[in-house]
Amino acid sequence: MTTIFIILIGVSFLTVFKVFNEIMASRRCPDDLTLQKVVLGRIPRKDAASKRVISHLGNCESCQAKVDALNGR
Ligand SMILES: [Zn+2]
Repeated sequence: MTTIFIILIGVSFLTVFKVFNEIMASRRCPDDLTLQKVVLGRIPRKDAASKRVISHLGNCESCQAKVDALNGR
């Protein structure tokens, strides 16, 4: 009985950690190479990494400036 309880706590802890990690990853700036690959379409738009970068771009001026520079603006 106790074992099941411990496993359940472990699983829920892992889920919370995963979600938290995902949020932190979208807040962190992607490295220049990843940003470049997404902008140039080298990473498919439906790819998780690409989605993260695109949602990050929506709220990061510093990365938006980098994208503008990549687009030659
Ligand atoms: Zn950024």
